[in-house]
Amino acid sequence: MGSVVLSLDAELGWGFHDLERLPIERVESGRRGWTVMLELLEEFDVPATWAVVGHLMLESCDGTHAQHPAPDGWFERERGEWQDRKDLRFGCDLVTALLESDVDHEFASHTFSHVLFGHPETDRELAAAELERSIEIATEWGCSFESFIYPRNAVGHRDVLAEYGVSAYRGWTPNREGARAVFDSMVRDQSLLVDPYIDDYGLVNVPASLFLFGFEGTARTLAESIWTDPMVALARRGIDEAVTHDGTFHMWLHPNNLTTERDDKRMRAILSYLERRRSESDLVVETMADVTRRVRQSRGVDGVSTRLNTEAKASWN
Ligand SMILES: [Zn+2]
Ligand SMILES: [Zn+2]
Repeated sequence: MGSVVLSLDAELGWGFHDLERLPIERVESGRRGWTVMLELLEEFDVPATWAVVGHLMLESCDGTHAQHPAPDGWFERERGEWQDRKDLRFGCDLVTALLESDVDHEFASHTFSHVLFGHPETDRELAAAELERSIEIATEWGCSFESFIYPRNAVGHRDVLAEYGVSAYRGWTPNREGARAVFDSMVRDQSLLVDPYIDDYGLVNVPASLFLFGFEGTARTLAESIWTDPMVALARRGIDEAVTHDGTFHMWLHPNNLTTERDDKRMRAILSYLERRRSESDLVVETMADVTRRVRQSRGVDGVSTRLNTEAKASWN
């Protein structure tokens, strides 16, 4: 018997602030997607890991961040173009809704300002500052976090995570994504399950299985006109696999992926299927923190696994 994990990268404007060309539809969907996901997860009683950008939990700021060792221009958009877009820079209302949800969600970190940890220009000092600030703000809110999700999944500075008391992160998926994932699973019958493990820093890597919005644009429209939403079919396969096999099916998305009702429909179809399969079997839904506890218990407290996947090795820095 396996388990299902759902994680979300909750970021509002911060997921895009460093991009020259903004994907407007996504940028403007962060708030609606956040609310829709909270409602759907409550309706189907599914706990998820929400990795929140720390800056969203500030009441206000002047955009200076003088103490922060970010490169020049890092906060440029918040100081300029988004000066009047508080809805993109702050999200205290949404974080409160998350913390007050009837579902026992996990509060996790997605850095302070969406710095890419795997980027060659992100040095140790910057990574440490992002974590330190995130911990400070969380503490002010009476929160703490065990899990961390890397912006754009750019794994790096795992030693800093360990130093600041983080227990787990979402590692890169061993599977191909988008249309290729559909092919690998449906045609090649490749498994969507992952096997969380303790890495050489003592952190639990809970690798992603499937990005739920990796199949978009014209290809999605064409596929949907012939079959059911291929991503729903894929998610159902992953859930079914977790019912019959050991291992974890780890789905992930950003709230801002829910740009239209069509996307809400996708999430509703996946979550209702998950609820149904859970009710008729021993399948469990876990947060990343649940997985972490389980993996650590099964390996013993100091049982450091020597297993390393090539992705993790390749992204050391
Ligand atoms: Zn700011
Ligand atoms: Zn992100």
